Amino acid sequence: MVTNPEQHDLIQTVTADVAIIGGGMVGMTLAVALADAGIAVALVDAQAAPERTATSYDGRSSAIAFGSQQVLAGIGVWPGMAAEAQPILDIRVSDGDARGRTSRLFLHYDHRDLAGGDADAPPFGHIIENQVIRRALLDRLAALPTARHLAPARIAGLARTAGGVRVALSPNPTGVTEIAATLAIGADGQGSPVRALAGIRVTDWSYPQTGIVCTVAHEKPHHGVAHEHFLPSGPFAMLPMVPDQEGRNRSSIVWTERRAPARTMMALDADAFAAEIEHRFGDSLGRLRPVGGRWAYPLRLLHAERYADDRLALVGDAAHAIHPIAGQGLNLGLRDVAALAEALVDARRLGLDIGAADVLERYERWRRFDTLVLMAVTDGLNRLFSNDLLPLRLARDLGLAAVNRLPSLKRVLMRHAMGTAGELPRLVRGEPL
Ligand SMILES: Cc1cc2nc3c(=O)[nH]c(=O)nc-3n(C[C@H](O)[C@H](O)[C@H](O)COP(=O)(O)OP(=O)(O)OC[C@H]3O[C@@H](n4cnc5c(N)ncnc54)[C@H](O)[C@@H]3O)c2cc1C
Repeated sequence: MVTNPEQHDLIQTVTADVAIIGGGMVGMTLAVALADAGIAVALVDAQAAPERTATSYDGRSSAIAFGSQQVLAGIGVWPGMAAEAQPILDIRVSDGDARGRTSRLFLHYDHRDLAGGDADAPPFGHIIENQVIRRALLDRLAALPTARHLAPARIAGLARTAGGVRVALSPNPTGVTEIAATLAIGADGQGSPVRALAGIRVTDWSYPQTGIVCTVAHEKPHHGVAHEHFLPSGPFAMLPMVPDQEGRNRSSIVWTERRAPARTMMALDADAFAAEIEHRFGDSLGRLRPVGGRWAYPLRLLHAERYADDRLALVGDAAHAIHPIAGQGLNLGLRDVAALAEALVDARRLGLDIGAADVLERYERWRRFDTLVLMAVTDGLNRLFSNDLLPLRLARDLGLAAVNRLPSLKRVLMRHAMGTAGELPRLVRGEPL
């Protein structure tokens, strides 16, 4: 094909081993992992870094499982967030009815149970503000000469050949119009333009629920206890956070509500909103006061029909999205990162093509089962608990009480929650990549 010289002059191409589209928490973690291992990365995001770290961008905190902490530590990101990470020492699960009454039967997980009662046992995980995670990732990324961060810039096209990919970018302030790479990775979230450009279909449905998120300050200390209270409209989680700069006790709330009542809750004034929270959670932490903004997230289940295609892989929410009932969506994405980074680094060390089909198939096989299990568990839990039918209430309360009395079953469930069950990639096991 003859290239128009004028057009050619306007093309500015960046060359890398891997082009990652999407600089959310998953895309940035993958960029750091690969660049740290000497693989040249070009990372693209539609929004500039200061926008992605602005307070208004994302009010969520994430429950980071022990296995995900190992991944972040292994690539040098954990020290940038450790001071703002609240250890989860205890998890308490209870069941409530439509009148706000809590069942006496509850499931109680103590982090020491996994280590035979040892007080120095590692916590289940940590609660960290998403903004803190993003900032730590951006700082680490900036320190890696093998990573190039192009933002704001949007993907406009994807051309794949037997030998590589060309990612076209729409006009953007970075001036770069194209990335030439061996492999493209879609880390561009639930609506993934990369997935659409590759023609990968999804199975998906919307939950009739909205996730309301806010932070509350409270009178009494939380002692590292995370509460999950099942209500007929959906789970209500109170997650312990580190104190704020004024030393106030804080927790992050993830409150699942049916869509119409959620809109009403979002419109309440501060006092009425606080009263609704107290009605649901009770007074075990003393007076509760919302601080900062409120966010509402539509909830969706989504699964891509494949995570790998010619010279392409999908990670994080671009490949799968699950209900936040167990706080596992990001943890799944970080396990994708650990598995894909290991497959690519192993191929590179053996002198193989990192974009070859068998390398990407290894990643896909590794990740599909873990994702499908969590998808089924979170969807099933949400269906079982988000209703007020008496027989179901009795059955699940008896179920919670039975699990609570079976230490071996509790240990299996705890290992899953900590992200340390199944065939684990090196980074999740705490070994170098
Ligand atoms: C209420 C709620 C609470 C949650 N709590 C937890 C929890 O406690 N623990 C947990 O593990 N998970 C939790 N999750 C899930 C978790 O937040 C997500 O799984 C995670 O944020 C997904 O990250 P990601 O990087 O894959 O996608 P995203 O965060 O969606 O990032 C995608 C990125 O791609 C960029 N992008 C999009 N389009 C383009 C384009 N055209 N060109 C270039 N860039 C583009 C976007 O700007 C964005 O930065 C929760 C989810 C919800 C809704």
